[in-house]
Formats: sequence, C-alpha cells, structure tokens
Amino acid sequence: MPKQSFRGSNINLVKLHNLRVVLLSLLHESNLSRVQIAKKTNLSNTTITNLISELIDQGIVSEVEETELEQGELRPVGRPRTSIQLEPNARFVVGVHIGVGLFRVGLVNIYNEMLHNQVVYFEISRPADQVLVQIVQTIEAVITVSGVERSKILGIGVGASGLVDFQTGINLLAPNLNWHNVPLRDDLQQALNLPVVVDNNVRTMALGETYFGAGRGVDSLAFVYGRTGVGAGLIFKGQVFRGSTKGAGEIGHTVILLRGGELCRCGQRGCLETLISEEAILRQAEQITRLYPQGILAQTLSDENDISPIERVFRAARAGDETVRAMLEDRAFYLGVALTGVVNLFNPELILLGGIFSRGVDFFLEPAINTVSQMSFGGMGRRVRIEATSFGWKAGVLGASALALMHFFYQSESSNL
Ligand SMILES: [Zn+2]
Repeated sequence: MPKQSFRGSNINLVKLHNLRVVLLSLLHESNLSRVQIAKKTNLSNTTITNLISELIDQGIVSEVEETELEQGELRPVGRPRTSIQLEPNARFVVGVHIGVGLFRVGLVNIYNEMLHNQVVYFEISRPADQVLVQIVQTIEAVITVSGVERSKILGIGVGASGLVDFQTGINLLAPNLNWHNVPLRDDLQQALNLPVVVDNNVRTMALGETYFGAGRGVDSLAFVYGRTGVGAGLIFKGQVFRGSTKGAGEIGHTVILLRGGELCRCGQRGCLETLISEEAILRQAEQITRLYPQGILAQTLSDENDISPIERVFRAARAGDETVRAMLEDRAFYLGVALTGVVNLFNPELILLGGIFSRGVDFFLEPAINTVSQMSFGGMGRRVRIEATSFGWKAGVLGASALALMHFFYQSESSNL
C-alpha cells in the first residue's frame, strides 16, 4: 500500500519524498525563491515549479512578493522577487507527552507553535488501558477547544516513558509506571481514527529541539532529562539514535556508585537515578529537615501552597538555605559525572537539560559544567555547550508534537529508522 502523504491523497513515494524535502528546506529557511529551493534540494527547476504549485493548491505554502528590501540585500533589476513560505496554520498535529503520573496533550501548527494544551494527573497505580481512555478524551477535548478542522490534523505524536519500540508503537517497559507491552500506537489509532507515531519521551524532546528549538543547525545533540527517571535522547545528523534494542540513552541506569549504592527500581545498585532523580533529591531534603527542623527548608516545605515538593526545595535554596544549596551542588556533581559519560561516548556539540535539571538550572548547570570540563577526555568537555532546554515546561509535549511533524510532514526517512 503506498504511503499516505497529507491525509486523503495517495501519491507515489518519490514525489512524497521530494515534497517533504521541499517542506524541510522551507522549515530550515523561510522565504526562499523557487530557484533557491531547487539549488538546496538538488531537484530540477521544473520539478520544483510543479511541487510548489501543488503545495499552493493544498494551501500548505504561499507566494510572497518581496516589496521591501532586506537589509544589505541587492535586488536584481526588473520584477520583484517572489519567494515561497510555509503557511503556519495549514496543517496541525497533536503531541502527547506521557510522564510518570501525568500526561500533557498539545495541539500545534507546522511550526510546532502550540495553540492549546491540557495537563492531566493520574495515579501511577492506574492501569494503562484506563490512562489511555483519559488520553483519548483529552485529545478530543483539545481538538474541540482549538476549533481546528479534523481534516487538517495530520496525526498524533506520543512521547512515552521507558523503552518504546518505534516500529510497532509498543511501550515495552515503563518501570516507573509498571507498564509492560502497552500497544500505544494501535490503541490510540483505533480510538481516534488518526495516524499515531510513538517514541521514547526524551528522544522526542531531543528531536523537538533539533528542528524547532536550540538545536537547530546542530549536528550532534544530547537531551538529558530528569524527573522520576533520568534519560538521554541522542540525535546525530538530524536523526534520532535508538540503538539496536531501542534502549539507547538509558543513562539513568549507569552505575555511578560501584559499591554500596542504593537499590534502584531496575534491580541494580548505585544507578545514576538513585542519586539525582527527583525522589533522590527529596530524600536528601528530608534528611536536611530532620537535621534543621527550624531551617528555611523545613519552613518552605510546611508552607501551605500548591507548588510541588521539588520546587519548594529549589525555593528554599534560592531563599538562602545554604545546606540545601550545598546538597543541590553535590547532586550536580553526579549529573556532571553522567554528562561526562555522554561526552566521552558521543562527543556531542550541544547538551540540553530538561525536567528538574532545567527547573533548578541555577543550581545544577555551573557545577555540572565544571565537572564535565574537568573529567572529560582530551578537553572534549570544554568544547561542548551545555544549557537548559529552550522549551521549559513544554519540552515534553513540544517534543511529542515534533515527532508527529517530522514523521507525518517533513521527513520521509524517519519511518525507516
Ligand atoms: Zn537502575
């Protein structure tokens, strides 16, 4: 069966590939002329003219007459330059980020700009099939509230926790949710009658940054996320690296304390997750409150407000609790050790931090950078850029929607990985 391009029209694979190459070139650089697109894509001028007229008919791109000179640009004598640009709201996708105890659903346009989103919290003991029913309801609600026509929605991208088989869309194992072999793609596709693509949630964040965020133009990128678990998403030359058995990037289970470490959910002792996950930091915070029951942290934790416990820990440190600050910097050392592993193994150009590492970036970043630059081999650690995600709290959902955009709109190759 031929692949479907934009929903509803079956076209041959070469043409679909060419269309997507054109779209991707327009995503990288807006306002290109037909001749420039031909040069960038190595396609003939005739092919480009035909493809562009088809995209104009579908309302996906439009022509712009450039009446104003760009600064420093030399205008050729004669008629004004006509350039082509993507129509941001021509199509949409939905992103679903599944985390531990919460999922977030967002509807975005083809620039991955979010129009509407909703977050839903769930008990982690709730069976997967019940959570899926809630996800379906939330997706329907987000589509309805956004007012977008269903025919303009290309598909759904899902970023799931733990091991995910990208080919089959099965969430093989999410130990922090106790999910085993959950057929996310098929179940959601059936319930929603829309195409669905699924990958590990941290990989989708890395992909999102690569095409729509701080990683644009970066060849090799690692996204390191921490919350209940700790994981990394690796991108090389614009493509997600998944590994031979889907587990690439499971750095949370790198053994850091070789002897005497705490027991991890995976069964090993001394894993990175036992040292720098949200839970690990909260355990350390509890010890501090026992030692200093009148301290700033103890007061901040007992305040009646609705911010999360980890945010309270950060708040206490920002309010001047030096013991808490020292504890966070100590945890940042272990993060730095983990990032050193990433640098030595993968030598990325850019490492982005997400989740609690970006929420507490004022505590984690500098000590982690220092550790990486001291410990990495051959000075590699001094050349890697390390910063917080450019998406903030939206990293999960914008990653999931980026997966859908790349899979259903911009990148014909992604399904072959
Ligand atoms: Zn482990």
